[in-house]
Amino acid sequence: MTKEESSSEVCIGHRDLVIGASSMRIIFIGPPGAGKGTQAAALTQRLSIVHLSTGDMLREAARAKTPLGREAAEHMNAGRLVPKELVQQLVAERIAGPDCRDGYLLDGFPRTVEQAEHLDKWLDAQGASIDLVVNLAVDDAVLLARLASRGREDDADDVVRERLRQYDKLTRPLVDYYRRRGVLREIDGHGTPDEVLRRIVAEVEAAS
Ligand code: ADP
Repeated sequence: MTKEESSSEVCIGHRDLVIGASSMRIIFIGPPGAGKGTQAAALTQRLSIVHLSTGDMLREAARAKTPLGREAAEHMNAGRLVPKELVQQLVAERIAGPDCRDGYLLDGFPRTVEQAEHLDKWLDAQGASIDLVVNLAVDDAVLLARLASRGREDDADDVVRERLRQYDKLTRPLVDYYRRRGVLREIDGHGTPDEVLRRIVAEVEAAS
């Protein structure tokens, strides 16, 4: 390969990273094991927006053994959702921060229609709105296999079953909530992380 060829390749790679989607507000929904965390980390790096994972925030609080963290851990380790007051407080403080002014991706919040209504109220008050909601769809058998190989504290068999039950009952209704608002995009979450990321990036580009 000549020098010109190799530098043009770098250039194409670089251009590929700069998609015109800064200051977007994005939500990821999808069942446990769908790959939200992996995809959210990759996408936020590309877009240079803040990645807000309520699961990560709650696990951090649990590790630090703050009062909120201790209470959250009891629910997380049983596969239940953490009481909304705890999560909403964490998210409200975070999205009011100056680094979130230029956009953010919410990963794990909202997780119920009630949480989504709260978020809409905060956004309305700021004159802001959600640009895109990505629903990562993955077959149950694949979810179970992925979770079994991950080995997080809340990935034990019975806890996973409870988390999937909670997802079906409480989080799945969000798909319709956002579909009605016209911001929902269904993404096939099967395949390699790169393949899934490409599908998501195509939707982000279409929405920006
Ligand atoms: P996953 O999507 O694989 O279940 P997360 O890291 O997003 O993993 O969440 C782990 C746990 O954190 C959940 O099972 C739940 O107990 C708690 N949690 C995270 N986000 C929320 C939320 N918005 N509302 C209530 N509980 C939450």
